[in-house]
Amino acid sequence: MSGGNLDLVIVGAGFAGMYMLHRARKLGLSARVIEAGSGVGGTWYWNRYPGARCDVESMQYSYQFDDALQQEWDWSERYAPQPEILRYANHVADRFDLRRDITFNARETTAAFDEAANLWRLETDSGERIAGRFCVMATGCLSSWNMPRFKGLEQFQGKRYHTGQWPHEGVDFTGLRVGVIGTGSSAIQSIPIIAGQAAQLTVFQRTPNYTIPAHNAPLDPEYKRAIKSDYAGMRARAKQTIPGIDFKLNPKSALEVSAEERQREYEARWAAGGLMFGASFADISLSKAANDTAAEFVRGKIREIVHDPKVAELLAPDYTIGCKRLCVDTGYWATFNRPNVALVDVSKQPIEEITAKGVKLAGREYEVDAIVFATGFDAMTGALTKIDIRGVGGLSLRDKWDHGPRTYLGLAMAGFPNLFTVTGPGSPSVLTNMLPSIEQHVEWIGDCIAFARDNGKQRVEPQAQAEEAWVAHVGELAGATLRHTCNSWYQGANIDGKPRVFMPYIGGFPAYVKTCNQVAAGGYTGFALS
Ligand SMILES: Cc1cc2nc3c(=O)[nH]c(=O)nc-3n(C[C@H](O)[C@H](O)[C@H](O)COP(=O)(O)OP(=O)(O)OC[C@H]3O[C@@H](n4cnc5c(N)ncnc54)[C@H](O)[C@@H]3O)c2cc1C
Repeated sequence: MSGGNLDLVIVGAGFAGMYMLHRARKLGLSARVIEAGSGVGGTWYWNRYPGARCDVESMQYSYQFDDALQQEWDWSERYAPQPEILRYANHVADRFDLRRDITFNARETTAAFDEAANLWRLETDSGERIAGRFCVMATGCLSSWNMPRFKGLEQFQGKRYHTGQWPHEGVDFTGLRVGVIGTGSSAIQSIPIIAGQAAQLTVFQRTPNYTIPAHNAPLDPEYKRAIKSDYAGMRARAKQTIPGIDFKLNPKSALEVSAEERQREYEARWAAGGLMFGASFADISLSKAANDTAAEFVRGKIREIVHDPKVAELLAPDYTIGCKRLCVDTGYWATFNRPNVALVDVSKQPIEEITAKGVKLAGREYEVDAIVFATGFDAMTGALTKIDIRGVGGLSLRDKWDHGPRTYLGLAMAGFPNLFTVTGPGSPSVLTNMLPSIEQHVEWIGDCIAFARDNGKQRVEPQAQAEEAWVAHVGELAGATLRHTCNSWYQGANIDGKPRVFMPYIGGFPAYVKTCNQVAAGGYTGFALS
């Protein structure tokens, strides 16, 4: 099939690219991965900020494609810290001998479809070229870090860090005056730790976030044994849930129960910790009145924990809970009781400028020795639009997505034959446990390529009508929940000038997988194979 060229070029060596390579080999396809970093692990290679860890529990945030792998790996904590997840990624790379087909320290800058040869031709920032019959963009949903263009940024004399691109050697803030800009998930994880080191920490907050205590702890060996004795059962249960996580959704409405029962449920979920607070009642993400009860419960907790009522009010979000991604923390609210921590509200009077000495707003300069930009990512589309991707007739992906991303199933785009995205916009991706979503995509893509090969087809491309219908379906579903009621990165609101379109598929993992399976079973319905 390759005729001298590769069957498959994969961009990115995070969990998606690594598994895609393994799967390609199993299918007998020649493949090479191109990775910008110097090692595997993607998210867990780049995000080395203090406190970085997963917020889906470790026993579930892991590959399931190989039972021996999941049996032999031993997670130490309920939520694995970044170094451990990175070790796991490296273990997988070793175990399946992946590195020999990965080129590190190479960033793809262009990818163009050569129609005459039916080949994807890619070029890196150092001018290296590679070509393959198929191309899989495993470039990550949260890999294109966002550095807002603050006036004066370059004149700052202190140290600057972005949580998504943290120095490998780590950073010691002991004795320093530190500013953290942003209060999303990365900030929420890192602020308690930075506060413990710094002489003074100033947190610049535009929008407060809801966060639930992690209650992280070493994993009980008995609990691990119990899961491993029926790992397949747990994985199967997880796949039947909307976020692809094995958890208990309370089927009741928050409004049908008494105030006492509601309070009991919220207290129990708060005490258990983690994202499953969002499953306290079935209608939290659907009914504003139900949502208000959960939101008010969390606001009450903030008021209880944070001593200064003015600070508590600033920290308490007023929008629907779960609209932005729910965060999970260790000691976040209580950090604002520390004498060395100050909260600065930049919602009404935004940061005017980064000066040589610090951060200036409302006519006041906050002097700091270091600034941590916890300003998130150009989510879901950023890593793709950074590459100059050209399809049929030179069609540019950036132009195609000018008014928001358009895909069929979040897997492929009309006008871009033989190009696939793993967890692309229009797939459940960031609304789910990403590992099972990645595995499902990789397996589907592998099967599709094998189908084309086995049926003598050179080109696989979504039909425009199928894509159109999928984009409309994704949009309709998003409109039916409370998720669109705030400014979130799910809809590009954190990036200046980005079109406001709700990007992930909100219909849940099971419904999505069913659709993908039906498409495949129908001989790839909605795709043109030629
Ligand atoms: C701090 C943080 C915590 C998270 N916690 C969770 C969690 O608890 N649960 C969960 O389900 N998900 C979580 N996520 C989401 C996480 O991104 C996914 O779970 C998963 O790691 C994504 O894997 P990936 O391979 O798709 O992408 P990534 O891990 O982002 O890997 C993409 C890779 O592609 C490379 N790349 C991108 N563009 C190019 C290019 N042009 N050329 C060459 N290489 C390129 C990047 O360098 C990167 O290594 C978290 C994300 C972050 C940032």
